[in-house]
Amino acid sequence: MENIVKETKFILNKYNLKANKSLGQNFLINKEVLETIVNSAEITSNDLVIEIGPGLGTLTEFLLEKAKKVICVELDENMVKVLQDRFLLYKNLEIINEDVLKLDLNQIIKDERQKQEIDNVKIVANLPYYITTPIVMKLLEDKLDIESITIMIQKEVADRLIDKPGGKNCGAITYSINYYSEPEGIIEVDKSSFIPEPEVTSKVLKLKIRKTPNIKVENPEKMFKIIKCAFLQRRKTLLNALVLNGIFETKEQATKIFEKVGLDLNVRGEKLTLEEYAKLSDYYSQK
Ligand code: SAM
Repeated sequence: MENIVKETKFILNKYNLKANKSLGQNFLINKEVLETIVNSAEITSNDLVIEIGPGLGTLTEFLLEKAKKVICVELDENMVKVLQDRFLLYKNLEIINEDVLKLDLNQIIKDERQKQEIDNVKIVANLPYYITTPIVMKLLEDKLDIESITIMIQKEVADRLIDKPGGKNCGAITYSINYYSEPEGIIEVDKSSFIPEPEVTSKVLKLKIRKTPNIKVENPEKMFKIIKCAFLQRRKTLLNALVLNGIFETKEQATKIFEKVGLDLNVRGEKLTLEEYAKLSDYYSQK
């Protein structure tokens, strides 16, 4: 840990930089955690790794040793300068200075596969916490040709992502995560593993992308719209929440469909399985 701390402080000093809070810059300084992230990602020498938010390049260095190629996406120009100097001699690194949310990652992966033979594409990141959810949802909803996503995020969000529908941390996003991937919690990471320390505890998790979804539903977008509305008013019954949020026009209409699906009229949104939401969505589409 000592060496990484020294190195991080040295680079910040050399380039006269300070961690930019508004960009979620908390630099990882714990070697064990870095190794755990890299080992969990199971990178082989024929893999392409996409790293989001490489920062000063601490994790990047580990990734470059394992992967065939690493593509880093970094928004902060100051970090890009550091990375260019630090990894000048590496031939397997490409840096994209852009907001990851604006990138066409599908095209980037397609282009890379055309350039060279690649076994799997893996996303690895210590994510900027201020945009964790939009990034994770983009990575899943863009239906990328990737094998896994190994990320460090806030523990509170991680616990929601890896929960099962019906669990105590379950939210609307739990259903999306379970639809697109098999989530697994890896380790909790204390604030002291970063410079500067973030305000919250972190957690590493791995999402193994499903080749085909684990349930059948006619219109997934519609199903996720229903799930979102169900969680807008958690204290209400599902039926009332869906009427209030305009999924159903009247209580009578909702009652009819609930009866067809076999749902208790007083059930709460978080108690439904993904299969039940799929069934509700399919009946709703037929109404
Ligand atoms: N990977 C480094 C580490 O582990 O020490 C830095 C991680 S830091 C938590 C998050 C990084 O994401 C920062 O370098 C920040 O500049 C970058 N970042 C923030 N918003 C971004 C965005 N929209 N697109 C790409 N990178 C972003």
